[in-house]
Amino acid sequence: MDFQFTAEQTALRHEVRRFLDEELGDQPAERDSFSPEFSKKLAKRGWIGIGWPREYGGGGMGPVEQMIFREEFVGADAPVGYHLTAERQVAPSLLLHGSDEQRAEYIPQILNADISFALGLSEPGSGSDLASVATRAVRDGDDYVVNGQKIWTSLAQRADAIWLVTRTNPDAPKHKGISILLLDLKSPGIEVRPLINMADGHGFNEVFFTDVRVPARNRVGEEDRGWYLLVEHLDFERSGIERIVGTRKLFDETVAYVQSLPANHVARRRARLALAQLAIELDLGRLLAYRVAWMQSQGLVPNYEASISKMFGTEWQQRMSRTALAIVGLDGAAARDSSSFARRVQRQYLSSVSATIGGGTSEIQRNIIATRGLGLPRS
Ligand SMILES: Cc1cc2nc3c(=O)[nH]c(=O)nc-3n(C[C@H](O)[C@H](O)[C@H](O)COP(=O)(O)OP(=O)(O)OC[C@H]3O[C@@H](n4cnc5c(N)ncnc54)[C@H](O)[C@@H]3O)c2cc1C
Repeated sequence: MDFQFTAEQTALRHEVRRFLDEELGDQPAERDSFSPEFSKKLAKRGWIGIGWPREYGGGGMGPVEQMIFREEFVGADAPVGYHLTAERQVAPSLLLHGSDEQRAEYIPQILNADISFALGLSEPGSGSDLASVATRAVRDGDDYVVNGQKIWTSLAQRADAIWLVTRTNPDAPKHKGISILLLDLKSPGIEVRPLINMADGHGFNEVFFTDVRVPARNRVGEEDRGWYLLVEHLDFERSGIERIVGTRKLFDETVAYVQSLPANHVARRRARLALAQLAIELDLGRLLAYRVAWMQSQGLVPNYEASISKMFGTEWQQRMSRTALAIVGLDGAAARDSSSFARRVQRQYLSSVSATIGGGTSEIQRNIIATRGLGLPRS
């Protein structure tokens, strides 16, 4: 394993940094992460799907270059929310399992930032145990008719389409009766209801499906075999460097804040060792993510390694946010001015609570590491 980046990869990273400096320099620190305009700018440069094969319109580069892009964009808090899910999860699944028609329809739209996706996996009774999903899809002629409910569906209020996990065979063992459908979120019979999180943000939703008709040609992969796609899909989600670098900016800002305090300030003295520890962990988290990208570049399929990276990155986000909140003290709890550092700390602290739940909880990641990584029995 060699973590030296090539001269071309380093040049690419610098090019992305220059672009981000120009694009984000004047923007407010607290900005909307869902920006079709920003995604379009990346699409025009060919910077969406740079790791996909050229035959599908991608950049023909590899997983390491893709990771460098994500590290820079997410690390700079760039507004990539419009295209990230489609680029990271939907397109790779379509490239592997989609029909020619599906690839012809969706891949160009994703590359051009003309479509955004929400992910309809979790249900009120089905989160960690995803194989128990109950949203029904019943075949009726050339369509499926979908009835049921999803929950915690991020960005369903803004996305164009949804990657939907449905049950097509209720009589088969639960892993063997699942199918994946792609559908337009404006389809008749879909109702999206907001869920407001404790940071007062509208990130996720409940989504209700009542007799929603979906053309059968929108099923990805074989009927009843969706579970196997889903496992891969979750690995795509967990594989990224986004988790660890998602709070890197806050870390840099916290260090700068502490440096700006008077030399004898009590918080300055107290923060030194905690920030040193976090710096070590940040480097470690980046290396864990680099390992995943390196494995992908060698044609290996990261599995428990992705879980280690996801779990470590999200738990680091929480340690980082907690430390920053302790440093700003009561200012953090009271801050209302959206441009203030204390306010950003407060919001990051509140939203970091969910980091170890979304994309699979830390307990589930530890189960995967214990069983698939260490060969230990299921409890
Ligand atoms: C910010 C955020 C965004 C999200 N976005 C989406 C989205 O876009 N689309 C989507 O479909 N879902 C989304 N989710 C839902 C997320 O995937 C689920 O919340 C998560 O998988 C946990 O499921 P659950 O909430 O049903 O909890 P449960 O599965 O009920 O778990 C409850 C508790 O029990 C523990 N537990 C469960 N099973 C085990 C076990 N076998 N061993 C040990 N402990 C266990 C869990 O770790 C957890 O602590 C999002 C969640 C969050 C927080």
